[in-house]
Amino acid sequence: MTQDTPNPAQVSSLILHLSSFDYIPLAMINAIAYCPRRFGYEFVQAEMLVNDHVVEGVLRHQGVDLGGSAWVGEAVQQRRAYVWSDALRVAGFCDLIEERAGAAYPVEYKKGRPGRWKSDHAQLCAQALCLEERTGRSVERGYIFYFATRRREEVVFSAELRAEVAQLVAEAHRLSATGELPPPTDNPAKCRDCSLQPLCLPDELKRLAVLGRGWEDEL
Ligand code: SF4
Repeated sequence: MTQDTPNPAQVSSLILHLSSFDYIPLAMINAIAYCPRRFGYEFVQAEMLVNDHVVEGVLRHQGVDLGGSAWVGEAVQQRRAYVWSDALRVAGFCDLIEERAGAAYPVEYKKGRPGRWKSDHAQLCAQALCLEERTGRSVERGYIFYFATRRREEVVFSAELRAEVAQLVAEAHRLSATGELPPPTDNPAKCRDCSLQPLCLPDELKRLAVLGRGWEDEL
């Protein structure tokens, strides 16, 4: 990890990655892990809905979104660090990369509580895979700080989690290439927590399906 100001070549590289549609944003790994249809709306169709949860999340993020680096105790913290993986073709910002005792790891900030759904873990693991590729060092664990509990949750990047992330990334590229909008999730609890519900209308589509009309016909 470097604390130097990026040179023009690094800035050009960063702009190239940011503008490349071929690279899946790290935040979208969270979306596809939560619900592939959500990924379809947010990334493939670029449809976003802002509700009070989304606004609260943006406000909560303001501290880490400022960027910069600092010593905190015995750790060096770099906020809003850009990372990418050419192997996976994913790119984006880590809220925080912390380096302590020779080990660097990502820390992600989330507004709520540790979730029932593990999509936050998938996003964090994708960040770790990028960090490994950029530094050449293995990243065994990372942390998610939840504002509601004000605690860090440790996430171990197991072989299973890494394989799951690789699968999610592959599916994200496939959906991105085909433009396919997946069907609604079978899990209504996820829909209750989803800001896209007014756009997605999962209950209405399921009722149409009961009436014998495919959800695709209504899109
Ligand atoms: S409302 Fe439900 S089906 Fe639709 S995108 Fe959200 S989680 Fe997926």
